[in-house]
Amino acid sequence: MSTVTILGSTGSIGLSTLRVLRGLRDEFPVYGLSCRASLDVLEEQVREFRPAVVAVSGSGPNGSVDISEIKKKFPGTEFLEGEEGVTELASRPVDILVSAIVGAAGLRPTIAAIPHVKRIALANKETLVMAGDIVSDMIRDYGVELLPVDSEHSAVFMLLKGLNPVDVRRIVLTASGGSLRDRSAEELRHVTSREALAHPTWNMGNKITIDSATLMNKGLEVIEAHHLFGFAYDDIDVIIHPESVIHSMVETGDGVIYAHMSVTDMALPIMNALVYPDIRGNSFGRLNLAEVGSMTFRPYDRERFPALDLCCRVGRTGGTGPAVLNAANEVCVAAFLEDRISFVDIAAIVEKTVSGHHITARPDLGDILDADRWGRAEAERFIDAAGVRN
Ligand code: MG
Repeated sequence: MSTVTILGSTGSIGLSTLRVLRGLRDEFPVYGLSCRASLDVLEEQVREFRPAVVAVSGSGPNGSVDISEIKKKFPGTEFLEGEEGVTELASRPVDILVSAIVGAAGLRPTIAAIPHVKRIALANKETLVMAGDIVSDMIRDYGVELLPVDSEHSAVFMLLKGLNPVDVRRIVLTASGGSLRDRSAEELRHVTSREALAHPTWNMGNKITIDSATLMNKGLEVIEAHHLFGFAYDDIDVIIHPESVIHSMVETGDGVIYAHMSVTDMALPIMNALVYPDIRGNSFGRLNLAEVGSMTFRPYDRERFPALDLCCRVGRTGGTGPAVLNAANEVCVAAFLEDRISFVDIAAIVEKTVSGHHITARPDLGDILDADRWGRAEAERFIDAAGVRN
């Protein structure tokens, strides 16, 4: 039996994790759940999975969420409040922590968990984007297993297990290209948040769906892959593969390319992160290649989607740069979803914010959190200016 805590249980990955756990409940009892504010969903989850501890980050002295009613309904469950409550839950010992909070908010609790858990199933890529060096050092020092839940990285992880590391020449992350992959540069200027939210192959949360459309998501994934697998940026490539059948590839020195194929359902990488090194049957579907019929590939367009190259540049330089990039992007995506800026403003403002940042090399966690705050404030300034223009 392995106990599990899920940070971000009411989000897209959290819901998929509980869908997987529903079939594995005897082996993986739920110890803790956390969410920000979705109390209705949380209530259903507590009723079904009976966690010992629940944390609600949006409640407490600084929050607006009132948990007094839900607390009364579950007198046997311990409730923690605020961001500190989530971090406290993360530092309670369990076998597996599923880190599925969206965005920079996932960094602190994930770091807090490292000394107290055996395995981290990491869906929160920002943890590695913002603090990859710090997290990698801690993971090594505490002997924790870090299993990627991101579908591309899960694919690479599984492929690398079968190969001798010295034989691997490069990894290739596939990208669907997002909802706007076929729009012209001119069309991208006028695209609405509704159009951008219609992802062609994956059903995900709003933030990551917009990041897929800008290719910022793929850029963050390159940085994530660099930290997870230790490959130099020059040895991590990206290719557009609209069908999303191949989740990523690994090329060995002899030119052979190994590809990982499956249905597009996040339940699969989640299950693999839980049961690894086992392989289990699944109830969520198998790939039928005859139905797929054909697969296509093409290079990504650097002009229309500048965010990917920007991420690679900022990742290479390292230090506090990636934290600023991530912070500016989070603020810009939120502003785009509120129709405060245009689609093309997202990458433009992130670039402007990053270029004005004075990078701290070898930052500690405090430097990274400062850079995150600075990046948010600076991007907000550019957003206000862009709003006047639009
Ligand atoms: Mg991904």
